[in-house]
Amino acid sequence: MSKISKEAYQVYGKVYKIWKDSTGNASVGWRSYGKNPADFKLAKRFIKEIWKEVLEKDFPYPMHPLPVTGNRHTWIRNGVLYINCEKGWQNINHAIGHLMAYKKYPNKRPHSVENAWLEVRGAKLVVEKYLNK
Ligand SMILES: [Zn+2]
Repeated sequence: MSKISKEAYQVYGKVYKIWKDSTGNASVGWRSYGKNPADFKLAKRFIKEIWKEVLEKDFPYPMHPLPVTGNRHTWIRNGVLYINCEKGWQNINHAIGHLMAYKKYPNKRPHSVENAWLEVRGAKLVVEKYLNK
């Protein structure tokens, strides 16, 4: 991860703890790839739900009808959201956390403490409603 404040680091610690407690795997970077693959339908539902909860608006991008695979990332390309389910729930939540932070806190850097808290919220929602469902 790029340089982050001590405070943000502590909040990311909460994210790792949520994953560790629920999946046994506490990373969000490449180390987590493939550990907790997501169901495509559920991933789409999760993204819409967390977006609505955090931004109080409907998710503004169309979602590509098929998941991407391999090294391709979950992200917006040409105004369309592509989702990589293979990389797993931790990775999807991390990516959507970035996207939400970018919209909600446009003046903050990636991995700000605000960004980290969005990732905590997303991780809690995944564990509560989507993981292993
Ligand atoms: Zn990141």
